[in-house]
Amino acid sequence: MTAGGYFGRALIVDVSTGTSDTMTLPDDVLRAYIGGAGLGAWLMHRLAPPRTDPLAPGAPLAYVFSPLVGTPLTTSAKFAVVAKSPLTGLLTDALASSHFAIAGKLTGYDAIVITGACPAPSALLIDENGPRLTTAADLTGLTAAQAAATLRERLGRGWRVAAIGPAGERGVRYATISHDGRHAGRGGLGAVLGAKNLKAIAVRAAAKVATADPDTVLAQARDLRARSFGPATAKYRELGTLANLLAFNAISTLPTRNFQAATFDGAPALAAEDLAAEDLADRDLAARDVEARDVEARDVMARDAMALRKVARHSCASCTIGCEHIYRARSGQTARVEYENVFALGPMCGVSDPDAVLAASARCDDLGLDTISAGGTIAWAMECAERGLIDAPWLRFGDAGALNRAITEIGTRTGLGDLLAEGSRRAAEQVGQGSEEFAPHVKGLELPGYEPRTLHAMALGLAVNTRGADHNRSGAYEADLSGDLDRLDGGAAHVAAAVETEDRAAVMDSLILCKFLRGVFNDPYTEWAGLLSAVTGWPVDGAELRRTARRIVLAKRVYNLREGWRPADDWLPGRLLAEPVRLASGREAELTPERLRAMIDGYYAARGLDEQGRPDEAQLADLRLS
Ligand code: SF4
Repeated sequence: MTAGGYFGRALIVDVSTGTSDTMTLPDDVLRAYIGGAGLGAWLMHRLAPPRTDPLAPGAPLAYVFSPLVGTPLTTSAKFAVVAKSPLTGLLTDALASSHFAIAGKLTGYDAIVITGACPAPSALLIDENGPRLTTAADLTGLTAAQAAATLRERLGRGWRVAAIGPAGERGVRYATISHDGRHAGRGGLGAVLGAKNLKAIAVRAAAKVATADPDTVLAQARDLRARSFGPATAKYRELGTLANLLAFNAISTLPTRNFQAATFDGAPALAAEDLAAEDLADRDLAARDVEARDVEARDVMARDAMALRKVARHSCASCTIGCEHIYRARSGQTARVEYENVFALGPMCGVSDPDAVLAASARCDDLGLDTISAGGTIAWAMECAERGLIDAPWLRFGDAGALNRAITEIGTRTGLGDLLAEGSRRAAEQVGQGSEEFAPHVKGLELPGYEPRTLHAMALGLAVNTRGADHNRSGAYEADLSGDLDRLDGGAAHVAAAVETEDRAAVMDSLILCKFLRGVFNDPYTEWAGLLSAVTGWPVDGAELRRTARRIVLAKRVYNLREGWRPADDWLPGRLLAEPVRLASGREAELTPERLRAMIDGYYAARGLDEQGRPDEAQLADLRLS
């Protein structure tokens, strides 16, 4: 009998032929990997042919749901999209939330795996009649939002849509897949879908799934909901993650102009605290000097009252936190604002004009581009241009027009964009001349907005993570920022923090629960085990979940080993190890290669790996891969 919360099967669709198959997911595998990113790693081991080009028809892409999807537990309407990344050549798993999670799972499967490539632009539909393909020729060239809206209108009620933008169609290696505006963002999954000639996937619920102990799940949901309104999530509700920007600037961990500095003079102009309160019409109103009693003036004031920079706060499906803060540029474009997109398109590129950063972010959404990789690659190109390594005199740090031109060229693969669409690692390999040393990536994935030289636990987390430079699979920065250890002096405590936060992320990404909920758990593994037990009926405890976390992290590493990972890939860009960075205090901070090497050795030892980062036979046997 299948455990509660599961269907015990995956749907495998070959879009070359339109045929499909069902794969049984054994109970012991589900318990060992849970769902989401964990189960996705196991599926890739089983279904992805070794050493396949990520953009080849034979490379599978999987939507992987979890046992918590469809329950009333807050933030649980999530899924993982898993594939071999065209950016890194290694495993990638990007999480997103939307009603797509619930409708997709209730098609009757714990995972939907897509292989092959359609002979013509198509959309994949899955409902009670099973999977089938339909033409998407008329959707080609549309933004993801336009394509999703068109398809939903055509299909009618109940359908939920995942779609790619023009960047995915053109094989930009960091293209995203959008789900009601929430992107499976990192690693180029949009390019994988585009290579399959799939513009969209539409799903409609066709089945029901029961939990093992509905009364307990309901009580847990009420408790979590109440806790989600507490102080642990206040930052996300009130200002969102952009609240990090000024704080990171103050402690010299805001990567600026391609990691040439860790503080940014223009940071205050981009700060959430000011942007949230800014009235775009203030100056106009003052200049008009109108009488409020005048009818025409009242109309003007009414219209301008609508002109606040911040226009809305939204939530993902099934979320009681609501961290999505929507802002408007003076041009009228709106964009979801998070620390990472503002960092990448602002300080990283030296741009301090909030209107330009918001417009750039909206443009990335329209084209379907990962903002972190777009910003990192453009910042690298700006530095190349200023050093005369590439012929692009128009591309300069701080030039908002250049930033937006570069984004458009990337999304359309025109001009310089054809090179930059390859990501900073491949672009630097082509340009050479030492530009590899300041290409801001690990394993091909561009760095997020955390300065490794001033956050040593995070430096380790970024270096060893299987997805590449990534702040969602390693939360080691929390230890750096906690004040409990010296963030400028990496050692054993930093290693322990990197391992622990990576393990916790592995469980949350597999259950799946939103990371922004993590602060409400006092005894995380025990509480997560309680949730999983109530949903599935398994007698899971915290100790088992700790072992599960280590298994999932290891399964990802072993997949990468199979695909050609080398020990040298667990490392940081040359600049970060060769150049000190100036702190706001005037002192300098550095991360030496020797210190990073010692932390990586400690990490391998803590994970039971040999000096080359490889597991032993007993660890491999536990992975249930054969
Ligand atoms: S906290 Fe934010 S990211 Fe997380 S589920 Fe809620 S709205 Fe989505």
